[in-house]
Amino acid sequence: MKTVFSYARPYKIPIIIALCLTFLELSVELIQPLLIAKIIDDGITAHDSSVVITWGSIMMGLAVLAFVSGIVNSYFSAHVAQSFAYDVRSATFRHLQKMTLATFLTFQSSSLITRLTNDVTIIQNFLFMSLRIMTRAPLVVIGSLIMAFFVNVQLALLLLVTAPFLAIFLWVMVKQGVSIFASVQRRLDRVNRMAQENLRAMRLVKAYLRHAFETSRFNRVAEALQKDTVRALRTMELILPVLLFFMNASLMAVLWFGAKQIQTSSIQVGELVAVLNYGLRMTGAFSMFSFLIMIFSRAKASSERIEEVLVVESLEDVQKERGDLPHWERLRFHDVSFSYKGSDRQALRNINFELKRGETLAIMGATGSGKSTLVQLIPRLFTPTSGEIVLGEQPLQRWSLSQLRELIGYVPQQSLLFTGTIADNLRWRARHAMDDELIEATTNAQIHDAIQAFPNGYDTVIGQKGVNLSGGQKQRISIARALIRKPELLILDDSTSALDIQTEQRFLNALQTLDVTTIIITQKVMTAERADAILLLEDGQVVDYGTSEQLAKRSKLYQRLIASQKESEGNEDE
Ligand code: ADP
Ligand code: MG
Repeated sequence: MKTVFSYARPYKIPIIIALCLTFLELSVELIQPLLIAKIIDDGITAHDSSVVITWGSIMMGLAVLAFVSGIVNSYFSAHVAQSFAYDVRSATFRHLQKMTLATFLTFQSSSLITRLTNDVTIIQNFLFMSLRIMTRAPLVVIGSLIMAFFVNVQLALLLLVTAPFLAIFLWVMVKQGVSIFASVQRRLDRVNRMAQENLRAMRLVKAYLRHAFETSRFNRVAEALQKDTVRALRTMELILPVLLFFMNASLMAVLWFGAKQIQTSSIQVGELVAVLNYGLRMTGAFSMFSFLIMIFSRAKASSERIEEVLVVESLEDVQKERGDLPHWERLRFHDVSFSYKGSDRQALRNINFELKRGETLAIMGATGSGKSTLVQLIPRLFTPTSGEIVLGEQPLQRWSLSQLRELIGYVPQQSLLFTGTIADNLRWRARHAMDDELIEATTNAQIHDAIQAFPNGYDTVIGQKGVNLSGGQKQRISIARALIRKPELLILDDSTSALDIQTEQRFLNALQTLDVTTIIITQKVMTAERADAILLLEDGQVVDYGTSEQLAKRSKLYQRLIASQKESEGNEDE
């Protein structure tokens, strides 16, 4: 909890003010039984109405004071809790952005969403409650006990005997609570994941009529969440009856013993009333304990989940470098192997090849052969497990990440566009790009005409509230987004798969006019043929490397690819 709550440090002053106000409220509460005792013993019993009026008015005044400080306290507490939650949330988000991709992938995105939303809200409530009542209830218990001793030692001792039992009992309950609430949060992760998957796959669900199946799958995880939550609440509900039992037993003892002492006139009625009053206040405070323990256990579980993200140390150092990018003439892979975290299979094994500046390399291979993995090593999204990648004269890890990524244009296999207009998306990586730069990129990517045909042109909003783009349109906008910064090295991960042959050829022609080194992953022989070299991957290994003519002569795999694609083209012509 320490790491998360260190974010409350900047709010030291308002926190101290809030706690002082709590203290003030508490003092008033604790003085009241004394005043009542005084009114009874010196006023009512002694038939002196002036004492009743004077001390009664003082009691009223103090009550108003407590009321006002309660309101001011709420104001400060709410402000502190909200600001603290904002700080934790944005720190967690910032930390996620800085994490290496490999580490980031060890978290499930649905779980990260729960942590950024629900878990933060839980610790925010905890802080608010701490400032308002959390500190108050234990202080009421301790304060009442002390005051009771002040009034009458023997009677107060009766209130104290049960304390050790209660302390042990409460400690056990907190331990239980933390583990149960941690499991509740994990269940919530699962509900979120299920919802996320389903909503994303709605087209599929409808096309395959799987709504009943999906609903029952969702209900199962929702039910598990409900069951765990109920289990947690039941455990917490056990606290109150146990506390009340012990406290009531103590109060009975106080009454019985007190009554005897009044008979022997060794104490006054007011004293007994005061001690009883303190006992009742303790009981009242205890009855809040089950609620407090619940809030505390939840907050502890949630803060641990947030801390898991905050303490991750494998971060990327993406300092912006000033000055020109270093010049490079070639990219070389030396015996590069790579395994994903948590997988014992090598996704890439001993990869060797060289690509000269200005040339185009095509990568072909079956799905799962490691094509996407290979190209993601170049912008250092992942680091090779062994071997070395050298760009220019320097191994990749000696390049600053910002310079390396500055010169690379990477179009991932799945085109991802963000909420906003088409222009926003194109300018996502180049805030200050001029309109003519935008148009140059979209013209090269063969999407300019299509964009202009939209009702609002470049200002057309994409997605839910705007136009829905086809797969090929999304791919071309993603390509244009990569081209806009005029990358020196362009990586296209199957990014032309949804384009028709004519459009794709026009795009490749346009690429040839640009001064850009290109790595293009493709399934199409027609596309690969235009490259200076082709790398054939199978099961994470290079099975052949050469020009299209060389491979056509010697590679069985390439010949099979040619044969199958010629065949299907032939069929299309018929
Ligand atoms: P391709 O792009 O050629 O279809 P990939 O590079 O995506 O192939 O995948 C190569 C291998 O690595 C596959 O066996 C795949 O299951 C595995 N793989 C891909 N991504 C991950 C990941 N994030 N974690 C673990 N294994 C992965
Ligand atoms: Mg792939």
